[in-house]
Amino acid sequence: MKTVKVLAFTSLFWLCACEKTEPELAVFKEQMFVMGTIIDVSIYGESEKKSQKMFHDLLKDFKYMQASWSPTRKGGLRRLNGLIALESPFTIGPGIKDMIEHSTQLSLQSEGLFNPALGKLIKLWKFSQEELPKGPPPAADAINKILAGNPKMTDLVITGLILESRTPDLAVDFGAYAKGYGVDKAIEYLKSQGVHNAIINAGGDLRAIGSKGKDAWHIGIRHPRENWAIASIKIQADESVFTSGDYERFYEYEGKRYHHIIDPRTGYPADQSTSVTVLHHNAAIADAAATALFVAGPKDWQRIAKKMSVTHVMLIDKNGKIFLTPEMQERLQFTQPESLDITVVSH
Ligand code: ADP
Ligand code: MG
Repeated sequence: MKTVKVLAFTSLFWLCACEKTEPELAVFKEQMFVMGTIIDVSIYGESEKKSQKMFHDLLKDFKYMQASWSPTRKGGLRRLNGLIALESPFTIGPGIKDMIEHSTQLSLQSEGLFNPALGKLIKLWKFSQEELPKGPPPAADAINKILAGNPKMTDLVITGLILESRTPDLAVDFGAYAKGYGVDKAIEYLKSQGVHNAIINAGGDLRAIGSKGKDAWHIGIRHPRENWAIASIKIQADESVFTSGDYERFYEYEGKRYHHIIDPRTGYPADQSTSVTVLHHNAAIADAAATALFVAGPKDWQRIAKKMSVTHVMLIDKNGKIFLTPEMQERLQFTQPESLDITVVSH
């Protein structure tokens, strides 16, 4: 009698368990303060236990990336820059080699507008430090001295795992690229663990895979001058959306705005754009391209986008005029289109 009861209970339990194997409806979320930003990770369709394990693993990885790629903290990149200054060949790890080679290719495609070899100039502007600088801006002489050295990524010559710099006046800063590269690595890890639906949002720059069940991942793009979303995008399958804006890190000094995206041609903050958003399947490319197109501005962005093989772009210029590629127009939903000055231009 007792056995029967237990059996009946067990089969009822299995019935419930079977019903529960239908797609899980919960989205599990975790917020991490790492790599100089807030990283929000959302996972859909996995158990809470597995999601927690993924959050735990990702946080460890992001902390490692933060230590390795920060130009100011003690770690891999600071070591690399220190060794470049010593003017003799040295060994590098395969991870950083991959980043140097990929970013060199992107730098060339961008005609040097994305130039991670300008670490000395970025350091001079103090935007690589964690605390926001207050000004005054650096002296023109100091800026021109660095520009005169013309540091570029192709000055770094790699043979196997040996790196030699053709100039000691070069320092690498991955501020415009590492967030994208790190998000790619994190998504690759989630995929390798069988996670099919997730979003990794690093301070508004993100890559998303899959969906939230029947609904697509839906993301907003900030207005560069107001505190609301100018537009939204529905993510299709596996895409990254990265924005470079002059409102992210800036100070005002004697009535003038100085921000963290530097035009390598002048040595000063690029002053023709306020925001550039790029949609691409690869987050590292989207990150580097958003920075390069921001610097390129309304006159040159189409040429640079073409060279970087980037098709989905929105550029907002200093007057608030919006330029879109037709591909990007198809994907964007503007919140107040009637109040905006929008031009669609093929690239
Ligand atoms: P964010 O990281 O705030 O989203 P970006 O991706 O545009 O913005 O990166 C800006 C950072 O990249 C700066 O803080 C600096 O470290 C670095 N940087 C600035 N100008 C350039 C440039 N022209 N090329 C490469 N890196 C740059
Ligand atoms: Mg960038």
